[in-house]
Amino acid sequence: MKTFLSPFTMLFVVILMLSSCRPESPGFSHFEEYPYYSDEDLGLRYTPSKSVFKLWAPTANAARLQFYDHPTTGEPVQTKDLKKRLKGVWEATVKKDLAGLYYTFQVRIGDVWLSETPDPYAKAVGTNGLRAQVVNMAATNPPGWENDRRPELKQYTDIILYELHVRDLSIHPNSGIANKGKYLGLTETGTRSPEGLATGLDHLKELGVTHVHLLPVYDFMSIDEEKLEENKFNWGYDPQHYNVPEGSYSTDPADGAVRIREFKQMVKALHDAGIRVVMDVVYNHTGATELSVFNQLVPGYYYRQNAEGGFSNASACGNETASERLMMRKLIVESVKYWASEYHIDGFRFDLMGIHDIETMNLVSAELRKLHPSIYIYGEGWTGGDSPLPAEQRALKHNVLQLDHVAAFSDDVRDAIKGHVFHPERKGFVSGLEGLEESLKFGIVASTRHPQVDYSKINYSEAPWAKNPAQAIAYASCHDNHTLWDRFLESCPEASEAERIQMNKLAAAIVLTCQGVPFVHAGEEMLRTKFGAENSYNLPDSINRLDWSRKARYTDVFEYYKGLIALRKSRPAFRLTSEELIQKHLRFLDTDEPNLVGYLLSDHAGGDEWKEILVVFNGNATAKTIAVPDRDWLMVADAHTVNPEGLGVIKTATLQVPGRSAMILKSI
Ligand code: CA
Repeated sequence: MKTFLSPFTMLFVVILMLSSCRPESPGFSHFEEYPYYSDEDLGLRYTPSKSVFKLWAPTANAARLQFYDHPTTGEPVQTKDLKKRLKGVWEATVKKDLAGLYYTFQVRIGDVWLSETPDPYAKAVGTNGLRAQVVNMAATNPPGWENDRRPELKQYTDIILYELHVRDLSIHPNSGIANKGKYLGLTETGTRSPEGLATGLDHLKELGVTHVHLLPVYDFMSIDEEKLEENKFNWGYDPQHYNVPEGSYSTDPADGAVRIREFKQMVKALHDAGIRVVMDVVYNHTGATELSVFNQLVPGYYYRQNAEGGFSNASACGNETASERLMMRKLIVESVKYWASEYHIDGFRFDLMGIHDIETMNLVSAELRKLHPSIYIYGEGWTGGDSPLPAEQRALKHNVLQLDHVAAFSDDVRDAIKGHVFHPERKGFVSGLEGLEESLKFGIVASTRHPQVDYSKINYSEAPWAKNPAQAIAYASCHDNHTLWDRFLESCPEASEAERIQMNKLAAAIVLTCQGVPFVHAGEEMLRTKFGAENSYNLPDSINRLDWSRKARYTDVFEYYKGLIALRKSRPAFRLTSEELIQKHLRFLDTDEPNLVGYLLSDHAGGDEWKEILVVFNGNATAKTIAVPDRDWLMVADAHTVNPEGLGVIKTATLQVPGRSAMILKSI
């Protein structure tokens, strides 16, 4: 995640930080003294006969509920005081069917009534999240929901991630999808581009990925849900309500039940297509700071403070949450459990995971795995700025060894492949820069320990950081920074289009054969362009959308990705489950040639039917030779094509590898 605040917003934030962010806190001198409430019943417990509301607000001296019949305007139709209970909890019960009514909480601290707000545990809200809504969740289930099942997943290393923005998939006029920009756009089948090729859900199925990783789909702030006709775009890294789907992707943001039902329809359609669903979750900060839901109920508590007492800012978005405080940790853990159980979500990608503490991430992992052991958890092992949380407590990439069943993105292999992410003009392995061989090898062994990797030559790491391959995610590009295709345009202006396509294919071959879990940015498989835009978080659809005509224009690239994905899925050797198995079966070939990396997967690695698999990557512009075991080799992938049936037999101990190309061979 990377967004930038406007200068005006920054000024506003600074003014807020200079003012006290901690109003009067009666009875407590530290946030750590605030009482911890352990029961999992905060928020609304609805039945048709009564609704029970519970709010944690330990510094309040009064609290009230206000009910409305409209999501944004009008006077309350009813007001009800909450009664103070133990552990900072306030409670009220209304003995009638409240379904459909909107409501807000409001607390008094000292003599001041803070602003009305939904609570952090709200499950449904109306337009723009201004008011929560009483929704009968059982009535939101689409037909067949009770039979919805997570597609089979035997082991984490079988996962192939595809990072997608809901709106990007369908918003282009050439998508052939009716529900453009909506959750429902992901449910449509039989959709075709003008050239007659599959789009949308059919495209994902055809490509063969196992998991769709959705950019933020919780309720965020940046899109005005009352003005959807303006067709604004945003990534959504500005959370407003953690337990509610975003309204702008629904067909009716005013009715809280609609987005819930349509979100479930989307999950079910993906599951029916054999694809699991991952949510990008951003618990590390809130979109609003002083005016956030948190700060209207328990000012300051949910956030870390800097030395001056203002909001610290490791997110680079104005604040950072305090996962080490028990009620924030509880909120994160209960939130992911809620998405996994109510919405059948199969995985979570933690934005700026390094802002969270290790203990919280391990608790998230343990609790989710109790619900279903196949739920996959991973994150960005870094922060967006400095944090008051000591580095040794942060869930950073180099602390992944302390995380249990939590993975991190490998920026090591990402930048080995294409070059340093913050220097777009620089080349990488696939575009011919020497010196990245060890970083590439480190990616191939999924950031684990391997005797043939020289850890003194890795670009951003000095030692293995993954205990097992499932903890490392291999990728070449994501929503941040240039698309992979644009990166080659930036870094290789001298190259021809055909040469850049070869670089892209080589990058794909590397990512999709790495041990660990591979990750593809949506559209990479059709050379997606954002026309050079590096940070497109709020740029128009014309920059961000997937242009389906590129699938026909670059059909060979699409077929190459599809072929690599099919090859990976059929070959256990590329999906080894432990560091020990990688050490046992994967041996790098000896070569003094720069920008040339080859390895052998031997002895039926991972139970593979193929006895030996040879993989060689040549990042040089010209052909190179490499010594290989003297065998009869059947070529199954070259620079242009993947075909497990074979592209020809080579009898040699000296393999010649064309420039900018991958070769995958099996012994026969
Ligand atoms: Ca919203």
